[in-house]
Amino acid sequence: MAKILRLILGDQLNESHSWFDEKNEDIIYLMAEMRQETDYVVHHIQKVLAFFLSMRSFSDRLQERGHRVHYYKIDDPSNSQDLEKIIQECIKNYQIEKFEYQLPDEYRLDEQLNAICSKLSIQSKAVDSEHFLTERGFLADFFKGKKTYLMESFYREMRKEFNILMDGKEPMQGKWNFDQENRSALKDKRLLRKPKIHPKNVSELYEVIQKPQIKTIGRVEPENFLWPTTREECLEVLDYFCENLLIHFGDYQDALTTWDPYLFHSRLSFAMNSKMLSPLEVVQKVEKYWESHRKEISISQVEGFIRQIIGWREYMRGVYWAKMPDYGQLNFFGHERKLPNWFWTGKTKMKCLSSSIGQSLDLAYAHHIQRLMVTGNFALLAGIHPDEVDQWYLGIYIDALEWVEITNTRGMSQFADGGIVGTKPYVSSANYIKKQGNYCDHCAYSHKEKVGEKACPFNSLYWHFYNRNREKLEKNPRIGMAYRTWDKMKNKKEILDQAEAYLEKINEL
Ligand SMILES: Cc1cc2nc3c(=O)[nH]c(=O)nc-3n(C[C@H](O)[C@H](O)[C@H](O)COP(=O)(O)OP(=O)(O)OC[C@H]3O[C@@H](n4cnc5c(N)ncnc54)[C@H](O)[C@@H]3O)c2cc1C
Ligand code: SF4
Repeated sequence: MAKILRLILGDQLNESHSWFDEKNEDIIYLMAEMRQETDYVVHHIQKVLAFFLSMRSFSDRLQERGHRVHYYKIDDPSNSQDLEKIIQECIKNYQIEKFEYQLPDEYRLDEQLNAICSKLSIQSKAVDSEHFLTERGFLADFFKGKKTYLMESFYREMRKEFNILMDGKEPMQGKWNFDQENRSALKDKRLLRKPKIHPKNVSELYEVIQKPQIKTIGRVEPENFLWPTTREECLEVLDYFCENLLIHFGDYQDALTTWDPYLFHSRLSFAMNSKMLSPLEVVQKVEKYWESHRKEISISQVEGFIRQIIGWREYMRGVYWAKMPDYGQLNFFGHERKLPNWFWTGKTKMKCLSSSIGQSLDLAYAHHIQRLMVTGNFALLAGIHPDEVDQWYLGIYIDALEWVEITNTRGMSQFADGGIVGTKPYVSSANYIKKQGNYCDHCAYSHKEKVGEKACPFNSLYWHFYNRNREKLEKNPRIGMAYRTWDKMKNKKEILDQAEAYLEKINEL
Protein backbone atom coordinates (compact mmCIF):
# COMPACT_ATOMS: atom_id res chain seq x y z
CA MET A 1 0.00 0.00 0.00
CA ALA A 2 1.15 3.56 -0.75
CA LYS A 3 2.24 5.59 2.25
CA ILE A 4 -0.46 8.13 3.08
CA LEU A 5 -0.37 11.41 5.00
CA ARG A 6 -3.76 12.44 6.40
CA LEU A 7 -4.31 15.95 7.73
CA ILE A 8 -6.70 16.44 10.67
CA LEU A 9 -7.74 20.03 11.30
CA GLY A 10 -8.45 21.33 14.82
CA ASP A 11 -12.22 21.16 14.29
CA GLN A 12 -12.19 17.65 12.81
CA LEU A 13 -11.97 15.67 16.04
CA ASN A 14 -14.37 12.98 14.87
CA GLU A 15 -13.32 9.64 16.35
CA SER A 16 -15.97 7.81 14.38
CA HIS A 17 -14.62 8.86 10.99
CA SER A 18 -14.15 5.87 8.69
CA TRP A 19 -10.46 6.83 8.40
CA PHE A 20 -9.94 5.32 11.82
CA ASP A 21 -11.66 1.99 11.14
CA GLU A 22 -8.37 0.38 10.20
CA LYS A 23 -4.96 0.59 11.84
CA ASN A 24 -2.18 0.85 9.32
CA GLU A 25 1.51 1.59 9.81
CA ASP A 26 1.60 3.21 6.38
CA ILE A 27 -0.82 5.95 7.37
CA ILE A 28 0.49 9.00 9.23
CA TYR A 29 -2.01 11.40 10.77
CA LEU A 30 -0.84 15.01 10.86
CA MET A 31 -2.12 17.51 13.41
CA ALA A 32 -0.69 20.98 14.03
CA GLU A 33 -1.35 23.88 16.39
CA MET A 34 -0.95 26.84 14.07
CA ARG A 35 -0.53 30.59 14.42
CA GLN A 36 -2.65 30.99 11.28
CA GLU A 37 -5.54 29.62 13.36
CA THR A 38 -4.86 31.56 16.56
CA ASP A 39 -4.33 34.81 14.64
CA TYR A 40 -6.92 35.06 11.80
CA VAL A 41 -9.10 36.91 14.31
CA VAL A 42 -8.55 37.80 17.99
CA HIS A 43 -10.05 34.82 19.82
CA HIS A 44 -11.22 34.41 23.38
CA ILE A 45 -8.46 32.84 25.47
CA GLN A 46 -10.79 30.00 26.48
CA LYS A 47 -11.45 29.21 22.83
CA VAL A 48 -7.74 28.83 22.04
CA LEU A 49 -7.27 26.67 25.14
CA ALA A 50 -10.32 24.53 24.36
CA PHE A 51 -9.21 23.80 20.80
CA PHE A 52 -5.61 22.95 21.71
CA LEU A 53 -6.65 20.79 24.68
CA SER A 54 -9.19 18.91 22.60
CA MET A 55 -6.72 18.42 19.75
CA ARG A 56 -4.13 17.04 22.16
CA SER A 57 -6.53 14.61 23.76
CA PHE A 58 -7.76 13.53 20.33
CA SER A 59 -4.19 12.83 19.22
CA ASP A 60 -3.57 10.79 22.41
CA ARG A 61 -6.74 8.83 21.75
CA LEU A 62 -5.72 8.00 18.19
CA GLN A 63 -2.32 6.82 19.40
CA GLU A 64 -3.90 4.68 22.13
CA ARG A 65 -5.97 3.09 19.38
CA GLY A 66 -2.76 2.23 17.52
CA HIS A 67 -2.63 5.00 14.90
CA ARG A 68 0.52 6.91 14.01
CA VAL A 69 0.22 10.64 14.67
CA HIS A 70 2.70 13.41 13.98
CA TYR A 71 1.63 16.29 16.23
CA TYR A 72 3.14 19.78 16.09
CA LYS A 73 2.58 21.70 19.32
CA ILE A 74 2.41 25.48 19.09
CA ASP A 75 5.87 25.85 20.70
CA ASP A 76 7.65 22.94 18.97
CA PRO A 77 10.89 24.30 17.50
CA SER A 78 10.16 22.18 14.41
CA ASN A 79 6.77 23.88 13.94
CA SER A 80 7.47 26.36 11.12
CA GLN A 81 3.91 27.72 11.41
CA ASP A 82 3.56 27.34 7.67
CA LEU A 83 1.00 24.69 6.74
CA GLU A 84 2.40 24.04 3.29
CA LYS A 85 5.93 23.63 4.64
CA ILE A 86 4.74 21.30 7.39
CA ILE A 87 2.92 19.10 4.89
CA GLN A 88 5.92 19.07 2.54
CA GLU A 89 8.23 18.23 5.45
CA CYS A 90 6.08 15.25 6.50
CA ILE A 91 5.84 14.06 2.89
CA LYS A 92 9.63 14.08 2.68
CA ASN A 93 10.38 12.62 6.12
CA TYR A 94 7.90 9.75 5.89
CA GLN A 95 8.34 9.18 2.14
CA ILE A 96 4.67 9.80 1.60
CA GLU A 97 3.06 8.90 -1.72
CA LYS A 98 -0.45 10.26 -1.21
CA PHE A 99 -1.92 13.22 0.72
CA GLU A 100 -5.47 13.19 2.05
CA TYR A 101 -7.60 15.64 4.02
CA GLN A 102 -11.18 15.95 5.18
CA LEU A 103 -13.18 18.73 3.51
CA PRO A 104 -12.80 21.78 5.77
CA ASP A 105 -15.85 23.70 6.90
CA GLU A 106 -14.34 27.10 6.32
CA TYR A 107 -13.93 28.71 2.94
CA ARG A 108 -10.47 30.15 3.68
CA LEU A 109 -9.13 26.68 4.56
CA ASP A 110 -10.78 25.11 1.57
CA GLU A 111 -9.00 27.61 -0.68
CA GLN A 112 -5.70 27.14 1.13
CA LEU A 113 -5.77 23.36 0.90
CA ASN A 114 -6.75 23.45 -2.76
CA ALA A 115 -3.78 25.72 -3.41
CA ILE A 116 -1.39 23.52 -1.42
CA CYS A 117 -2.57 20.37 -3.22
CA SER A 118 -2.08 21.99 -6.61
CA LYS A 119 1.60 22.43 -5.73
CA LEU A 120 2.24 18.91 -4.40
CA SER A 121 4.11 16.48 -6.59
CA ILE A 122 2.11 13.55 -5.19
CA GLN A 123 -1.55 12.60 -5.55
CA SER A 124 -4.02 14.23 -3.17
CA LYS A 125 -7.61 13.56 -2.22
CA ALA A 126 -10.31 15.30 -0.14
CA VAL A 127 -12.87 13.16 1.68
CA ASP A 128 -16.08 14.05 3.49
CA SER A 129 -15.79 14.92 7.19
CA GLU A 130 -18.69 12.51 7.90
CA HIS A 131 -20.18 14.89 10.42
CA PHE A 132 -23.12 16.72 8.88
CA LEU A 133 -26.44 15.28 7.80
CA THR A 134 -26.18 16.74 4.32
CA GLU A 135 -23.43 17.32 1.80
CA ARG A 136 -22.02 20.80 1.26
CA GLY A 137 -24.08 21.53 -1.85
CA PHE A 138 -27.39 19.99 -0.71
CA LEU A 139 -29.07 23.19 0.43
CA ALA A 140 -28.14 25.12 -2.71
CA ASP A 141 -29.82 22.40 -4.79
CA PHE A 142 -32.80 22.19 -2.46
CA PHE A 143 -33.55 25.93 -2.85
CA LYS A 144 -32.47 26.31 -6.46
CA GLY A 145 -34.00 29.45 -8.00
CA LYS A 146 -35.37 30.78 -4.68
CA LYS A 147 -34.38 34.21 -3.28
CA THR A 148 -35.18 33.40 0.34
CA TYR A 149 -34.14 30.06 1.77
CA LEU A 150 -36.93 29.10 4.14
CA MET A 151 -35.40 27.21 7.07
CA GLU A 152 -38.69 25.56 7.95
CA SER A 153 -38.91 23.71 4.59
CA PHE A 154 -35.35 22.47 4.95
CA TYR A 155 -35.98 21.38 8.54
CA ARG A 156 -39.05 19.34 7.59
CA GLU A 157 -37.05 17.63 4.89
CA MET A 158 -34.39 16.66 7.48
CA ARG A 159 -37.04 15.34 9.88
CA LYS A 160 -38.46 13.10 7.15
CA GLU A 161 -35.13 12.03 5.73
CA PHE A 162 -33.69 10.99 9.11
CA ASN A 163 -36.99 9.86 10.62
CA ILE A 164 -36.74 12.15 13.62
CA LEU A 165 -39.87 12.87 15.68
CA MET A 166 -41.95 11.28 12.93
CA ASP A 167 -45.05 9.14 13.08
CA GLY A 168 -44.85 7.45 9.71
CA LYS A 169 -45.03 10.27 7.19
CA GLU A 170 -46.54 12.76 9.64
CA PRO A 171 -44.80 14.80 12.37
CA MET A 172 -45.30 13.38 15.85
CA GLN A 173 -48.30 14.85 17.66
CA GLY A 174 -49.47 16.42 14.40
CA LYS A 175 -47.26 19.54 14.36
CA TRP A 176 -43.86 20.32 12.89
CA ASN A 177 -43.16 23.29 15.08
CA PHE A 178 -43.97 24.13 18.70
CA ASP A 179 -42.20 27.50 18.67
CA GLN A 180 -45.26 29.36 19.94
CA GLU A 181 -44.95 27.46 23.23
CA ASN A 182 -41.26 28.28 23.63
CA ARG A 183 -41.18 31.92 24.58
CA SER A 184 -41.55 32.28 28.34
CA ALA A 185 -39.57 34.46 30.70
CA LEU A 186 -38.14 32.66 33.71
CA LYS A 187 -40.02 33.66 36.85
CA ASP A 188 -38.83 31.02 39.31
CA LYS A 189 -35.13 30.87 40.13
CA ARG A 190 -35.51 27.52 41.84
CA LEU A 191 -35.98 25.76 38.50
CA LEU A 192 -32.38 26.51 37.54
CA ARG A 193 -29.75 23.77 37.55
CA LYS A 194 -25.98 24.08 37.81
CA PRO A 195 -24.14 23.42 34.53
CA LYS A 196 -22.17 20.20 34.05
CA ILE A 197 -18.60 21.43 34.16
CA HIS A 198 -15.23 19.68 33.85
CA PRO A 199 -12.82 21.69 36.00
CA LYS A 200 -9.16 21.24 35.10
CA ASN A 201 -5.93 23.06 35.70
CA VAL A 202 -4.63 24.26 32.33
CA SER A 203 -1.95 26.62 33.68
CA GLU A 204 0.84 24.94 31.75
CA LEU A 205 -0.82 25.37 28.35
CA TYR A 206 -1.93 28.86 29.36
CA GLU A 207 1.72 29.83 29.95
CA VAL A 208 2.73 28.32 26.60
CA ILE A 209 0.11 30.44 24.84
CA GLN A 210 1.22 33.59 26.67
CA LYS A 211 4.88 33.27 25.63
CA PRO A 212 4.59 33.87 21.87
CA GLN A 213 2.19 36.74 22.67
CA ILE A 214 -0.80 35.31 20.91
CA LYS A 215 -3.34 38.12 21.18
CA THR A 216 -6.56 37.04 22.90
CA ILE A 217 -9.66 38.55 24.50
CA GLY A 218 -11.71 37.55 27.51
CA ARG A 219 -10.83 36.10 30.86
CA VAL A 220 -9.91 32.67 32.20
CA GLU A 221 -8.96 31.12 35.51
CA PRO A 222 -6.26 28.73 34.25
CA GLU A 223 -6.56 26.57 37.41
CA ASN A 224 -10.26 26.16 36.81
CA PHE A 225 -11.01 25.66 33.13
CA LEU A 226 -14.58 24.43 32.68
CA TRP A 227 -15.25 23.32 29.10
CA PRO A 228 -15.37 19.66 28.00
CA THR A 229 -12.31 18.77 25.92
CA THR A 230 -12.65 15.02 25.36
CA ARG A 231 -15.41 12.99 23.77
CA GLU A 232 -16.21 11.37 27.13
CA GLU A 233 -16.65 14.76 28.75
CA CYS A 234 -18.83 15.94 25.86
CA LEU A 235 -21.00 12.83 26.25
CA GLU A 236 -21.38 13.64 29.95
CA VAL A 237 -22.59 17.14 29.06
CA LEU A 238 -25.11 15.56 26.67
CA ASP A 239 -26.36 13.10 29.32
CA TYR A 240 -26.61 15.88 31.83
CA PHE A 241 -28.64 17.92 29.37
CA CYS A 242 -31.11 15.07 28.81
CA GLU A 243 -31.49 14.32 32.51
CA ASN A 244 -31.63 17.85 33.90
CA LEU A 245 -32.22 20.55 31.32
CA LEU A 246 -34.32 19.16 28.49
CA ILE A 247 -37.42 19.30 30.64
CA HIS A 248 -37.42 23.13 30.38
CA PHE A 249 -35.31 23.73 27.27
CA GLY A 250 -38.12 24.91 25.01
CA ASP A 251 -40.03 26.84 27.67
CA TYR A 252 -37.10 29.12 28.52
CA GLN A 253 -35.17 29.02 25.26
CA ASP A 254 -35.83 32.73 24.71
CA ALA A 255 -35.58 33.85 28.34
CA LEU A 256 -33.13 36.52 29.48
CA THR A 257 -31.98 36.74 33.08
CA THR A 258 -29.25 38.05 35.36
CA TRP A 259 -29.62 34.90 37.50
CA ASP A 260 -27.72 32.48 35.32
CA PRO A 261 -25.61 32.57 32.14
CA TYR A 262 -26.76 29.23 30.70
CA LEU A 263 -30.40 28.71 31.77
CA PHE A 264 -31.52 25.42 30.19
CA HIS A 265 -29.21 25.61 27.19
CA SER A 266 -27.10 22.56 26.44
CA ARG A 267 -23.55 24.07 26.12
CA LEU A 268 -22.99 21.52 23.34
CA SER A 269 -22.02 23.85 20.49
CA PHE A 270 -18.27 23.48 21.03
CA ALA A 271 -18.59 19.70 21.37
CA MET A 272 -20.37 19.56 18.02
CA ASN A 273 -18.41 22.24 16.18
CA SER A 274 -15.13 20.52 17.05
CA LYS A 275 -16.86 17.30 15.89
CA MET A 276 -16.28 15.43 19.15
CA LEU A 277 -20.03 14.79 19.00
CA SER A 278 -22.04 14.33 15.85
CA PRO A 279 -25.32 16.23 15.39
CA LEU A 280 -27.20 13.03 14.56
CA GLU A 281 -26.02 11.24 17.69
CA VAL A 282 -27.00 14.24 19.84
CA VAL A 283 -30.45 14.44 18.30
CA GLN A 284 -31.05 10.68 18.44
CA LYS A 285 -29.97 10.49 22.07
CA VAL A 286 -32.28 13.34 23.03
CA GLU A 287 -35.19 11.79 21.13
CA LYS A 288 -34.56 8.42 22.76
CA TYR A 289 -34.37 9.95 26.22
CA TRP A 290 -37.63 11.76 25.61
CA GLU A 291 -39.34 8.58 24.41
CA SER A 292 -38.75 6.98 27.78
CA HIS A 293 -39.76 10.15 29.70
CA ARG A 294 -42.80 11.30 27.78
CA LYS A 295 -44.88 11.73 30.91
CA GLU A 296 -42.52 14.36 32.36
CA ILE A 297 -41.19 16.05 29.24
CA SER A 298 -43.46 17.66 26.66
CA ILE A 299 -42.74 17.38 22.95
CA SER A 300 -42.29 21.16 22.67
CA GLN A 301 -39.03 20.97 24.68
CA VAL A 302 -37.60 18.25 22.47
CA GLU A 303 -38.79 19.60 19.15
CA GLY A 304 -37.38 23.03 20.05
CA PHE A 305 -33.98 21.52 20.70
CA ILE A 306 -33.92 19.22 17.68
CA ARG A 307 -34.91 22.10 15.39
CA GLN A 308 -31.83 24.05 16.47
CA ILE A 309 -29.55 21.23 15.38
CA ILE A 310 -30.98 19.51 12.33
CA GLY A 311 -32.73 22.73 11.36
CA TRP A 312 -30.73 25.86 12.08
CA ARG A 313 -27.24 24.42 12.42
CA GLU A 314 -27.40 22.27 9.33
CA TYR A 315 -29.19 25.00 7.38
CA MET A 316 -26.60 27.66 8.27
CA ARG A 317 -23.84 25.44 6.99
CA GLY A 318 -25.74 24.95 3.72
CA VAL A 319 -26.27 28.71 3.30
CA TYR A 320 -22.55 29.27 3.91
CA TRP A 321 -21.49 26.96 1.11
CA ALA A 322 -24.25 28.22 -1.20
CA LYS A 323 -23.26 31.87 -0.77
CA MET A 324 -19.55 32.15 0.04
CA PRO A 325 -17.31 33.97 -0.68
CA ASP A 326 -19.65 36.86 -1.61
CA TYR A 327 -21.60 36.46 1.63
CA GLY A 328 -18.66 37.83 3.61
CA GLN A 329 -18.96 41.22 1.85
CA LEU A 330 -22.69 41.81 2.16
CA ASN A 331 -23.81 45.03 3.83
CA PHE A 332 -27.46 45.54 2.83
CA PHE A 333 -27.97 48.68 4.93
CA GLY A 334 -24.55 50.16 4.14
CA HIS A 335 -23.74 50.40 7.85
CA GLU A 336 -20.38 52.01 8.67
CA ARG A 337 -20.08 52.64 12.41
CA LYS A 338 -17.43 51.08 14.63
CA LEU A 339 -18.39 48.86 17.55
CA PRO A 340 -18.42 50.81 20.80
CA ASN A 341 -15.40 50.22 23.06
CA TRP A 342 -17.50 48.61 25.77
CA PHE A 343 -18.01 45.51 23.61
CA TRP A 344 -14.50 44.59 24.85
CA THR A 345 -15.04 45.46 28.50
CA GLY A 346 -18.74 45.06 29.22
CA LYS A 347 -18.61 48.48 30.90
CA THR A 348 -21.88 50.09 29.88
CA LYS A 349 -24.80 51.33 31.95
CA MET A 350 -27.19 49.23 29.85
CA LYS A 351 -27.77 46.16 32.00
CA CYS A 352 -28.80 43.83 29.18
CA LEU A 353 -25.55 44.59 27.37
CA SER A 354 -23.25 44.66 30.40
CA SER A 355 -24.63 41.25 31.47
CA SER A 356 -24.47 39.63 28.03
CA ILE A 357 -21.03 41.01 27.17
CA GLY A 358 -19.67 40.47 30.70
CA GLN A 359 -20.57 36.78 30.68
CA SER A 360 -19.18 36.42 27.14
CA LEU A 361 -15.85 37.77 28.36
CA ASP A 362 -15.92 35.53 31.45
CA LEU A 363 -17.15 32.32 29.87
CA ALA A 364 -16.72 32.60 26.08
CA TYR A 365 -20.45 31.87 26.05
CA ALA A 366 -23.75 33.63 25.61
CA HIS A 367 -26.95 31.89 24.66
CA HIS A 368 -28.83 32.50 21.45
CA ILE A 369 -31.21 35.24 22.57
CA GLN A 370 -28.40 37.21 24.20
CA ARG A 371 -26.48 37.03 20.90
CA LEU A 372 -29.50 37.83 18.74
CA MET A 373 -31.73 40.17 20.71
CA VAL A 374 -29.23 41.95 22.96
CA THR A 375 -25.78 42.38 21.40
CA GLY A 376 -26.87 41.75 17.80
CA ASN A 377 -30.00 43.86 18.15
CA PHE A 378 -27.99 46.79 19.52
CA ALA A 379 -25.35 46.53 16.77
CA LEU A 380 -28.01 46.54 14.06
CA LEU A 381 -30.00 49.43 15.55
CA ALA A 382 -26.81 51.45 15.98
CA GLY A 383 -25.70 50.80 12.38
CA ILE A 384 -22.42 49.01 13.10
CA HIS A 385 -20.47 47.78 10.07
CA PRO A 386 -21.12 44.02 9.65
CA ASP A 387 -17.36 43.37 9.38
CA GLU A 388 -16.92 44.78 12.89
CA VAL A 389 -19.81 42.70 14.20
CA ASP A 390 -18.52 39.55 12.51
CA GLN A 391 -15.02 39.95 13.91
CA TRP A 392 -16.37 40.30 17.41
CA TYR A 393 -18.64 37.25 17.24
CA LEU A 394 -16.02 35.17 15.47
CA GLY A 395 -13.53 35.90 18.24
CA ILE A 396 -15.47 35.84 21.45
CA TYR A 397 -17.45 32.60 21.47
CA ILE A 398 -16.04 29.16 22.20
CA ASP A 399 -18.14 27.75 19.34
CA ALA A 400 -17.37 30.43 16.76
CA LEU A 401 -16.30 29.03 13.41
CA GLU A 402 -16.97 31.06 10.33
CA TRP A 403 -19.45 28.68 8.65
CA VAL A 404 -21.90 29.02 11.53
CA GLU A 405 -20.84 32.41 12.88
CA ILE A 406 -21.11 34.49 9.70
CA THR A 407 -24.48 33.12 8.62
CA ASN A 408 -25.87 33.80 12.07
CA THR A 409 -24.24 37.20 12.46
CA ARG A 410 -24.26 38.78 9.02
CA GLY A 411 -27.41 36.92 8.02
CA MET A 412 -29.79 36.24 10.87
CA SER A 413 -28.68 38.99 13.23
CA GLN A 414 -27.57 41.90 11.02
CA PHE A 415 -29.79 41.26 7.95
CA ALA A 416 -26.74 42.31 5.94
CA ASP A 417 -27.69 39.66 3.36
CA GLY A 418 -30.91 41.56 2.64
CA GLY A 419 -33.09 38.57 3.47
CA ILE A 420 -31.50 35.27 2.48
CA VAL A 421 -31.55 33.77 5.97
CA GLY A 422 -34.34 35.78 7.57
CA THR A 423 -37.50 37.34 6.18
CA LYS A 424 -37.12 40.48 8.31
CA PRO A 425 -34.51 42.07 10.58
CA TYR A 426 -34.47 40.90 14.20
CA VAL A 427 -34.79 44.26 15.94
CA SER A 428 -36.71 45.31 19.00
CA SER A 429 -37.15 48.18 21.40
CA ALA A 430 -36.84 47.65 25.16
CA ASN A 431 -40.30 46.05 25.14
CA TYR A 432 -39.02 42.68 24.05
CA ILE A 433 -36.05 42.64 26.44
CA LYS A 434 -38.31 43.63 29.33
CA LYS A 435 -40.85 40.94 28.43
CA GLN A 436 -38.23 38.19 28.30
CA GLY A 437 -36.62 38.72 31.71
CA ASN A 438 -35.26 40.91 34.48
CA TYR A 439 -32.48 42.94 32.84
CA CYS A 440 -34.53 46.13 32.74
CA ASP A 441 -35.30 45.86 36.47
CA HIS A 442 -31.59 46.38 37.21
CA CYS A 443 -30.78 49.00 34.59
CA ALA A 444 -29.75 52.65 34.85
CA TYR A 445 -32.10 53.42 31.95
CA SER A 446 -35.86 53.27 31.91
CA HIS A 447 -37.38 50.75 29.54
CA LYS A 448 -40.57 52.79 29.36
CA GLU A 449 -39.05 56.04 28.10
CA LYS A 450 -38.15 56.97 24.56
CA VAL A 451 -36.76 60.43 25.22
CA GLY A 452 -35.02 62.08 28.13
CA GLU A 453 -31.89 61.47 30.13
CA LYS A 454 -33.02 58.08 31.42
CA ALA A 455 -34.60 56.83 28.19
CA CYS A 456 -33.54 53.33 27.16
CA PRO A 457 -31.30 53.68 24.07
CA PHE A 458 -33.04 50.73 22.37
CA ASN A 459 -36.29 52.72 22.19
CA SER A 460 -35.11 55.69 20.14
CA LEU A 461 -32.56 53.68 18.15
CA TYR A 462 -35.33 51.29 17.13
CA TRP A 463 -37.30 54.06 15.42
CA HIS A 464 -34.14 55.65 14.07
CA PHE A 465 -33.34 52.31 12.40
CA TYR A 466 -36.76 52.03 10.77
CA ASN A 467 -36.81 55.67 9.76
CA ARG A 468 -33.38 55.68 8.14
CA ASN A 469 -34.02 52.40 6.30
CA ARG A 470 -37.55 53.17 5.16
CA GLU A 471 -36.79 52.78 1.48
CA LYS A 472 -35.28 49.35 1.97
CA LEU A 473 -37.86 47.95 4.38
CA GLU A 474 -41.23 49.58 3.85
CA LYS A 475 -42.35 47.17 1.16
CA ASN A 476 -41.57 44.12 3.26
CA PRO A 477 -45.02 42.69 4.09
CA ARG A 478 -43.83 41.63 7.56
CA ILE A 479 -42.79 45.19 8.45
CA GLY A 480 -45.54 47.47 7.14
CA MET A 481 -47.19 47.66 10.57
CA ALA A 482 -44.10 49.25 12.15
CA TYR A 483 -44.23 52.11 9.61
CA ARG A 484 -47.95 52.65 10.21
CA THR A 485 -47.24 52.99 13.95
CA TRP A 486 -44.29 55.31 13.30
CA ASP A 487 -46.35 57.52 11.01
CA LYS A 488 -48.93 58.01 13.72
CA MET A 489 -46.40 58.94 16.40
CA LYS A 490 -46.43 62.59 17.50
CA ASN A 491 -42.90 63.10 18.82
CA LYS A 492 -40.89 61.77 15.88
CA LYS A 493 -38.36 64.59 15.90
CA GLU A 494 -37.57 64.23 19.62
CA ILE A 495 -37.12 60.48 19.21
CA LEU A 496 -34.79 60.89 16.24
CA ASP A 497 -32.83 63.64 18.04
CA GLN A 498 -32.51 61.41 21.08
CA ALA A 499 -31.17 58.56 18.94
CA GLU A 500 -28.69 60.89 17.22
CA ALA A 501 -27.46 62.13 20.60
CA TYR A 502 -26.98 58.56 21.80
CA LEU A 503 -25.10 57.63 18.62
CA GLU A 504 -22.84 60.67 19.08
CA LYS A 505 -21.76 59.43 22.50
CA ILE A 506 -22.08 55.72 21.84
CA ASN A 507 -18.92 54.91 23.84
CA GLU A 508 -20.44 56.45 26.97
CA LEU A 509 -23.84 54.77 26.99
C1 LIG B 1 -25.19 36.62 16.18
C2 LIG B 1 -25.10 35.14 16.43
C3 LIG B 1 -23.88 34.50 16.30
C4 LIG B 1 -23.80 33.12 16.50
N1 LIG B 1 -22.60 32.50 16.33
C5 LIG B 1 -22.51 31.16 16.48
C6 LIG B 1 -21.27 30.51 16.30
O1 LIG B 1 -20.26 31.12 16.00
N2 LIG B 1 -21.22 29.16 16.48
C7 LIG B 1 -22.33 28.45 16.83
O2 LIG B 1 -22.22 27.23 16.98
N3 LIG B 1 -23.51 29.05 17.00
C8 LIG B 1 -23.64 30.38 16.85
N4 LIG B 1 -24.85 30.99 17.04
C9 LIG B 1 -26.04 30.16 17.32
C10 LIG B 1 -26.35 29.92 18.81
O3 LIG B 1 -26.43 31.16 19.47
C11 LIG B 1 -25.33 29.01 19.48
O4 LIG B 1 -25.20 27.81 18.74
C12 LIG B 1 -25.77 28.62 20.89
O5 LIG B 1 -25.96 29.78 21.66
C13 LIG B 1 -24.73 27.70 21.53
O6 LIG B 1 -25.08 27.40 22.85
P1 LIG B 1 -25.70 25.99 23.27
O7 LIG B 1 -24.82 24.90 22.78
O8 LIG B 1 -25.96 26.05 24.75
O9 LIG B 1 -27.04 25.99 22.44
P2 LIG B 1 -28.50 25.40 22.71
O10 LIG B 1 -29.41 26.54 22.91
O11 LIG B 1 -28.49 24.34 23.72
O12 LIG B 1 -28.87 24.77 21.28
C14 LIG B 1 -28.45 23.45 20.91
C15 LIG B 1 -27.59 23.48 19.69
O13 LIG B 1 -28.30 23.94 18.58
C16 LIG B 1 -27.42 24.55 17.67
N5 LIG B 1 -27.93 25.89 17.36
C17 LIG B 1 -28.80 26.62 18.06
N6 LIG B 1 -29.09 27.75 17.41
C18 LIG B 1 -28.36 27.76 16.29
C19 LIG B 1 -28.21 28.66 15.22
N7 LIG B 1 -28.88 29.80 15.13
N8 LIG B 1 -27.32 28.34 14.25
C20 LIG B 1 -26.62 27.19 14.29
N9 LIG B 1 -26.73 26.30 15.28
C21 LIG B 1 -27.61 26.58 16.26
C22 LIG B 1 -26.06 24.63 18.32
O14 LIG B 1 -25.25 23.60 17.79
C23 LIG B 1 -26.36 24.37 19.78
O15 LIG B 1 -25.32 23.74 20.46
C24 LIG B 1 -24.96 32.38 16.85
C25 LIG B 1 -26.17 33.05 17.00
C26 LIG B 1 -26.25 34.41 16.78
C27 LIG B 1 -27.57 35.09 16.91
S1 SF4 C 1 -33.80 49.45 29.93
FE1 SF4 C 1 -32.99 49.24 27.90
S2 SF4 C 1 -30.78 49.19 28.13
FE2 SF4 C 1 -31.68 48.80 30.13
S3 SF4 C 1 -31.79 46.58 30.29
FE3 SF4 C 1 -33.76 47.28 29.49
S4 SF4 C 1 -33.52 47.17 27.28
FE4 SF4 C 1 -31.46 47.06 28.13
